[in-house]
Amino acid sequence: MPKRLIILGSTGSIGTQTLQVVRDFPGEFEVVALSANTQTDILAGQVKEFSPRAICVSNGLSEKEKVRELARRSGVDLYLGQEGLTQLVEKYEADMVVVATVGIAGLVPTLRAIELGRTIALANKEVLVTAGELVMSEARRRGVAVLPIDSEHNAIFQCLSAGPREAVRRLILTASGGPFRGVTREKLRNVTPEDVMNHPTWKMGRRITIDCATLLNKGFEVIEAHHLFDIPLERIEVVVHPQSIVHSMVEFVDGSVIAQLAITDMYLPIQNVLFYPRRVANNLPRLDLVSLGSLTFEAPDLETFPCLAYAYEAARKGGTFPAVLNAADEGAISRFLKGKIGFADIPVVIRHVLDQHKGQPVRSVDDIREASLGAHRIASHWDAP
Ligand code: MG
Repeated sequence: MPKRLIILGSTGSIGTQTLQVVRDFPGEFEVVALSANTQTDILAGQVKEFSPRAICVSNGLSEKEKVRELARRSGVDLYLGQEGLTQLVEKYEADMVVVATVGIAGLVPTLRAIELGRTIALANKEVLVTAGELVMSEARRRGVAVLPIDSEHNAIFQCLSAGPREAVRRLILTASGGPFRGVTREKLRNVTPEDVMNHPTWKMGRRITIDCATLLNKGFEVIEAHHLFDIPLERIEVVVHPQSIVHSMVEFVDGSVIAQLAITDMYLPIQNVLFYPRRVANNLPRLDLVSLGSLTFEAPDLETFPCLAYAYEAARKGGTFPAVLNAADEGAISRFLKGKIGFADIPVVIRHVLDQHKGQPVRSVDDIREASLGAHRIASHWDAP
């Protein structure tokens, strides 16, 4: 029996690579439903190729007619808006829901999928950053597996099978250091959006590439790892590893450190999650350690890239703080991309928003939404002193 998939966010970077895995292994998967935010042309191609039963377009309202026509022609059920994502999850049977959406839009459908007992393949950062407590406590209560697609968490997930959970001493997340590793604070002042998009090892979406450059992405990953693997923050460390070959490590109490190494290609963690617990041969290039020659490691520069420390701080404070951190970053990045603030202002805006925030417990998704809106507002009104 093929594994039935619902892919939320099928037209983005992770979504299209997920479908590449599906394409490469005929007979292994059945695509039940797909969703796009705005890229309806890509979605149309996917509908033609994978014949899902349903699609959702969550934000392409200007294309409503075109999308209706597409649904009519191809005989698929159509859902619109953000509620449509949740409806896909509720109305169609699936073995796995791939959450590759961006932003807190993925939160409600993920929670719903967990309630319905579906295995989650998670690529949407905001789900665990903003609502880690909520999501993982629900997943543990229902015995639902949340399988991480992000390369670092997928690496840790693989390494953890080397020993019992109570024997884990630390998680060691690796960071490439981004395009500005070793650059001084002064030089960061003149960085343009084009400079940022030039990531040395990974090809990714726009926001995550900027988050890599500020190191906040690694901070988000610390928060995600904390919730996903239920390990205290003080036992999660970050080490800069510019070659991005060791994707992360787990140290056990006996001092053994287990690492997962592979070429830098998201295809691999996606395949790992889709097939889990099976391992299947593929056509990716093999890791060639001899031609790489050396792998290096260094401490992160928290003075030049304070966002990593802000993430630990927000996670320690808990409640709405991580959601506020996320929204502040989103707001700061959108202003940076519009040329309204400089790259070096991004951490300043985030610091400012965190300082303004009072912190509330998170009881529901609404608490997260409200805190995020407030943080957005403050971030968008910030002016360089
Ligand atoms: Mg990552």
